[in-house]
Amino acid sequence: MSAFSPSRNSGAQKMNNNNVNSVVIVGGGTAGWMAAASLARYFEGRSASITLVESETIGTVGVGEATIPSIRDFNASLGIDELEFIRATGATFKLGIEFVDWRQPGEHFFHPFADFGQPVNGVAFHHYLNRLNTDNLEDYCFAIQLARRGRFAQPHSDPPTPLAAYGYAYHFDAGRYAQFLRDYAERKGVKRIEGKIAHVTQNADSGFVESLQLDSGETVEGQLFIDCSGFRGLLIEQTLGAGHEDWRRWLPCDSAVAVQAERMDEPTPYTRCTALEAGWQWRIPLQTRTGNGYVFSSDFCSAERASEALLERVPSPLSEPKHFRFIAGPRKSVWEKNCFALGLASGFLEPLESTSISLIQTGISKLLSFFPESGFNQHDRDEVNRQHWHEFERIRDFLVLHYKATQRDDTEFWRYCRNMPVPDSLVHKMALFAHRGHIVQHEPEAFEPDSWLAVYWGMGIRPDHYDPRADKVPSEVLQKELEKMRGMITQASEQAMSHKDFIARHCSEKR
Ligand SMILES: Cc1cc2nc3c(=O)[nH]c(=O)nc-3n(C[C@H](O)[C@H](O)[C@H](O)COP(=O)(O)OP(=O)(O)OC[C@H]3O[C@@H](n4cnc5c(N)ncnc54)[C@H](O)[C@@H]3O)c2cc1C
Repeated sequence: MSAFSPSRNSGAQKMNNNNVNSVVIVGGGTAGWMAAASLARYFEGRSASITLVESETIGTVGVGEATIPSIRDFNASLGIDELEFIRATGATFKLGIEFVDWRQPGEHFFHPFADFGQPVNGVAFHHYLNRLNTDNLEDYCFAIQLARRGRFAQPHSDPPTPLAAYGYAYHFDAGRYAQFLRDYAERKGVKRIEGKIAHVTQNADSGFVESLQLDSGETVEGQLFIDCSGFRGLLIEQTLGAGHEDWRRWLPCDSAVAVQAERMDEPTPYTRCTALEAGWQWRIPLQTRTGNGYVFSSDFCSAERASEALLERVPSPLSEPKHFRFIAGPRKSVWEKNCFALGLASGFLEPLESTSISLIQTGISKLLSFFPESGFNQHDRDEVNRQHWHEFERIRDFLVLHYKATQRDDTEFWRYCRNMPVPDSLVHKMALFAHRGHIVQHEPEAFEPDSWLAVYWGMGIRPDHYDPRADKVPSEVLQKELEKMRGMITQASEQAMSHKDFIARHCSEKR
């Protein structure tokens, strides 16, 4: 019997299906502490017991530094002060991602958390550029112009101008973020137990998890168990056998190697993702160091070659190369019986668009909206599992687009990506855009239409036709308006403070 194969408690059904207010969280990585902080907030003013078990010996995955703007909503939902959080986690600001060498070596484009231009007469902006047969989409995005100049400003408060139509996220040290949330959660009464879980006991009749036995001999009981144990999925997989989908045929990267480097003198307000021979490299600037890693496919590159390639590009690392293996795809269900999985335990998609931490967040929001206050219900579980699956599918398609649309044919890896069949849902989306510039959204979609536009356009896909309603604006008026908008964006971006100065003035980290 493996350490985690469940034992069946043959005694009476202990699970009380009413008033679920005793929650046990397994794991103290980013997912565990995000869940603990949110549950502490959820139960504020009510009687509840929240216990988190983690093992320092096992440790956490120890990577995960780039986020998307929804992280700001998460922090706000906990009442966290932004500047205090930045100082505590050594964070920098992130306006988006620069993609280098993806379409062809030597070419680059930017995916901002922002809109491009503004719709005119209800017609999306890119149709007007297509009508003029012009390529300079990035000139109409304030966030990109700030990023290209190494500057940062918070969005203007006046929504109708293009100077307001963007969001931002952070790069931070995920370990310090977990610690920050741990302090928050413990202040609100969450109990932390240090220890390695050696055994899981399930109810003999229902299969519900009843308790965890630690190496120390201690038993931890609960009504609801949140599995934040990382890739291993201690409860959701090893105990309840939920299963894991394998999407490597579409997302062939299954490995990564990471090193840390000196901090950048002028930290960029964006992540850089550079396509390499069998995958891509991330560069993420924090206040005190720079995170670097090579995400690659083991079918096309050995771990040794990947380390070598990374170290050629990061010649003086501050840490030994650390290797990771993963499978792209979701856990087939995240809510089984009385166990709800979050974070890496719920599935994984490579970090190209920094979606993992945001998936923890949306997982928590499903947990809270379907919280089994007065008992467990199969319809709730089915709905959560359905939403989880679709959310993963939408992100998968967005990621696959980055590979499929490449024009590179210089290595076996890129030739594979170019020629691989892609999911029908993506075939459909790409065909709609290529024909007449339609960008369709399917529920629940993590990325807005302008994110899709940034990648379509950046990868060189142009619609064959534009929306004929774009012809209603006379050509001279259109040219003049575009010039005005470009001028306003350029001028405002030149006036903004450098990212480095913005941090120094407002939120230099506490040491
Ligand atoms: C190469 C790579 C790069 C990434 N980059 C990004 C990024 O830029 N942005 C982003 O959003 N995400 C990124 N991620 C994902 C991100 O790291 C994770 O989503 C995040 O850290 C959450 O991890 P976790 O808490 O689910 O798991 P972990 O950090 O693995 O934590 C698991 C916890 O479970 C505990 N545990 C496990 N077994 C036991 C046991 N038997 N007994 C007691 N405790 C146990 C461990 O001690 C630990 O506390 C990246 C991931 C990888 C692999």
